[in-house]
Amino acid sequence: MSIPYTTDLHQIAPDTYAYLQGNPATGYSNAGLVLSGDEALLVDTLYTLGQTRQMLDTIAKALPAADIRFVVNTHSDGDHWWGNQLVGDATIISSTVAAREMRHHGTEILAPVLSEGADPRLQAILSPFDFSGITPTYPTIAFNGELELTVGTRTVRLLEVGPAHTVGDVLIHVPDAKVLYAGDIMVFGGHGVVHTGPIDNFIHACDVILGLDVDTVVPGHGPVGGKAEVARVRDYLERVRDHATATHKEGKTALESAREFDFSEFADFYGAERVILNIGAVYREINADGTPGPGQLLHQMVDLADEVKAGS
Ligand SMILES: [Zn+2]
Repeated sequence: MSIPYTTDLHQIAPDTYAYLQGNPATGYSNAGLVLSGDEALLVDTLYTLGQTRQMLDTIAKALPAADIRFVVNTHSDGDHWWGNQLVGDATIISSTVAAREMRHHGTEILAPVLSEGADPRLQAILSPFDFSGITPTYPTIAFNGELELTVGTRTVRLLEVGPAHTVGDVLIHVPDAKVLYAGDIMVFGGHGVVHTGPIDNFIHACDVILGLDVDTVVPGHGPVGGKAEVARVRDYLERVRDHATATHKEGKTALESAREFDFSEFADFYGAERVILNIGAVYREINADGTPGPGQLLHQMVDLADEVKAGS
């Protein structure tokens, strides 16, 4: 089954849906919907109120009886929860650490990029989005480890696998549909990002997915896939870890390391410049002193993006 990568609500199994935004660029995340009778669980809201409203309108049109009782936020990045206020009547759930992180992860984190005098190349990444009107709306239930929910007559399992992409990543497993919603533990067709790591936890999260009885995986970004795509992400992360560990030993900077990364097997992945963030995360782990800082890496990432463009 191949699901078109278009901005729409796509059925991926009986009463089980992926809402995709058919764009691999930063800020266009995916979401999901699990339905049983009239009762629905929504996986993630989106970056802006406009995006989230469009998604909710699409759901209401396709499934007019669906009543969103539960929302699960897969993690604390804004493109997965800043639309929460539009489903504020639902029970909103995340891991305890993600819920805590959200308190420090409102739109104020964009200020350094949006303020006057900031790098225009970073500003350009955010220029398509209108962040006005967002009132941070936090989870009402938080859990550690695992949580099993009943949606109508269906079972939905939440599995905490962070810290990996962020501190509190959660996978959503729908056993009767053999579907897994991965949040940003999975980005298909592009370079995912290791914000916090450790990278070995991230690789372990891939193994958790590979060990489940699932046929369909909805990534946080990119088209719907399956275990073959998960295995590729795992392979990519191992390459990044091994490459970064070696270049760190050689005394190279994260930027030098990124320039030397062998992209040949991942030439079809969007956003090659993001590799520097992942190399930087491995470096931070080894250095254990907070360096290189994520802000510095973002600036080097746009430098690298210019080089990648000039070289292609
Ligand atoms: Zn995301």
